[in-house]
Amino acid sequence: MIISKQKPFKEILACLEGVERVFLVGCGDCATVCQTGGEDQIVEMKQRLEAEGKKVTGSMIGESACHILNMKRELRQHKAEVADAQALLVMACGAGIQTFSEVLDKPVYTANDSLFLGNVQRFGHFSEHCSLCGSCIVNETGGICPITNCPKGLLNGPCGGVDKGMCELDSERECAWVKIYNRLKALGQLDKLRKLQSPKDYCSAEKPRMRVIERKGSGTQGPGTQGPGTQGSVTKGGGK
Ligand code: SF4
Ligand code: SF4
Repeated sequence: MIISKQKPFKEILACLEGVERVFLVGCGDCATVCQTGGEDQIVEMKQRLEAEGKKVTGSMIGESACHILNMKRELRQHKAEVADAQALLVMACGAGIQTFSEVLDKPVYTANDSLFLGNVQRFGHFSEHCSLCGSCIVNETGGICPITNCPKGLLNGPCGGVDKGMCELDSERECAWVKIYNRLKALGQLDKLRKLQSPKDYCSAEKPRMRVIERKGSGTQGPGTQGPGTQGSVTKGGGK
């Protein structure tokens, strides 16, 4: 899920300068789990904005704010409240807010900063395990990503700085390659370590770019979709 944190209220107020009537949008998915766009945060934001003299014309919590089609449908149920607002304040990730800037012709502001693609360790505790590099190698590394878990992103074993199994750049963190070794050993797959990984092709992660995945049979498949299987990838801009 996308991990987000709420911006300082002062910053939110600054972007709403001159805006007297606001419609609030939350997200029932990632931002709810992160407590940056769930029901409680919407209620709290409403109270804080009202204390600043702003009128909250209404609010909604979309099932997933990044789902453009569903959000268009949900917005229809709040047509009058949205029409009455001068702007929307979206409490979701960067993808969520851009759903609304795409479908509405009025100002849309975000209350959150999007941080990373995260795993939920436990309530309120998130960790990063994937950097979305676009060409996954975890099949070779026991299901552990060295690009994300090793601060140097090394692909062929540890650097010389491993200290008693811990990372030289963070003494509280186990070296990613020690973890990979132990995991492959437990799986009886140590032979995988003998395979030299070629330098990674980061082209598919290059920015700026525009990536669209189109699933075959969805009726939206366009030119440029490639490869067999159920889906293809179209990358425009930088990268290929
Ligand atoms: S190699 Fe690592 S960063 Fe790349 S897609 Fe796989 S898990 Fe994510
Ligand atoms: S000690 Fe391990 S995790 Fe740390 S930089 Fe070196 S190889 Fe990467």
